[in-house]
Amino acid sequence: MNNTADVAIVGAGVMGLAHAYAAASRGMRVVVFERGLRASGASVRNFGLIWPIGQPQGRMHQLALRSRARWVEVLEQAKIPYWPRGSLHVVYRDDEAAVAREFSELAAGIGYECSWLNRDQVLSRSHAINADGLIGGLWSGTELTVDPRVTIAALPGFLHERFGVEVRFGCAVHSIDLPAVEAGNERWAVEQAVVCSGDDFETLYPETFAASGLTRVKLQMLRTAPQPEGWQLGPALAAGLSLRYYSTFGVCTTWPSLRNRIQQETPEYERWGIHGLVSQTAQGELTLGDSHEYGACVDVFNREEVDQLILGYIHGFLNAPVMKIAQRWHGVYAKHPEKPYLAITPAPGVRILTSPGGSGMTLSFGIAEETFGDGDL
Ligand SMILES: Cc1cc2nc3c(=O)[nH]c(=O)nc-3n(C[C@H](O)[C@H](O)[C@H](O)COP(=O)(O)OP(=O)(O)OC[C@H]3O[C@@H](n4cnc5c(N)ncnc54)[C@H](O)[C@@H]3O)c2cc1C
Repeated sequence: MNNTADVAIVGAGVMGLAHAYAAASRGMRVVVFERGLRASGASVRNFGLIWPIGQPQGRMHQLALRSRARWVEVLEQAKIPYWPRGSLHVVYRDDEAAVAREFSELAAGIGYECSWLNRDQVLSRSHAINADGLIGGLWSGTELTVDPRVTIAALPGFLHERFGVEVRFGCAVHSIDLPAVEAGNERWAVEQAVVCSGDDFETLYPETFAASGLTRVKLQMLRTAPQPEGWQLGPALAAGLSLRYYSTFGVCTTWPSLRNRIQQETPEYERWGIHGLVSQTAQGELTLGDSHEYGACVDVFNREEVDQLILGYIHGFLNAPVMKIAQRWHGVYAKHPEKPYLAITPAPGVRILTSPGGSGMTLSFGIAEETFGDGDL
């Protein structure tokens, strides 16, 4: 066995790459195995939103803030573009405004930096917002946007150049029996292994995954053609459905009635877990989404009715020059019914770190720091 490393990491999605960074920046020799010729899982299919405001107060919000700090450190070192432009939840209904206002009053006391903006303040912060019927919005300066396809493609090169991390693409790990790791036709000797295999529950430790309670979530996404040169979205945008969706806002006494109204009035949004988020890519396109379909077996075909629901909702608040849809796709992530992510030790020296759900971009670098922060596995 000629190939040796301190740590082997399975998967070059954001979880695997964040773990590679955490290990390598602590002086460990790291090898990453990615079965694809490039990463093409959830990490390249998302909005690229580092979104601490989506995390409930306390431990998860603190973890998201630590993760954000690490992201900035990495993006700066790697010279990967990012946009620290914050987020705006825009509101058009009184019950949405009530939640946004109440949260802005509670925010400072529970660790968030948010403020309520009236209609004119919202419109001066972003020219991408439909002014008709706009009441105001919840502003947060903490969120940042990356272009996920650019970022996930660039990180392996940075990790290699800066820390000597070996990244083996087209190399599926089919067996871990420490110190031996077998990947493709390579055999490595390592001290530790970290499995960040996303929603692959079948290849490694299938019994552990089967007993874990994990399921899959499918999300439909769309992307516009590029906006005119120089046109900027500004802050990433969300609206009333996001105030309903994120448990962060559950601290508000006004939250239940917003949820009830949405359930009664628009059951189709509930049925498909429709949400309305907008981010901008490096090329100026707008990424639009999303929906949530739960179940172990993912339908590979998209539903046009779901795309229409997403677009219909977003048309209500977004005012962008180009709304021509240039791309449609879906992504799948692993999710635990109760835990925000899963950290299991299926064998001595091996950790499975997966299922940060819809928050993997936000949380990965924080989770990885926890994995390696306390010493050996
Ligand atoms: C549409 C969509 C939008 C989202 N938007 C956001 C957002 O804006 N902000 C946010 O915080 N989160 C968001 N998320 C969630 C986030 O994208 C995921 O939580 C995160 O990408 C999961 O990363 P991962 O590395 O665990 O999985 P993946 O990106 O799926 O990576 C797993 C990798 O492991 C590889 N692999 C698996 N098994 C093996 C093996 N045996 N050998 C070698 N390689 C293997 C796979 O090929 C894959 O590349 C979104 C998710 C989706 C689907």
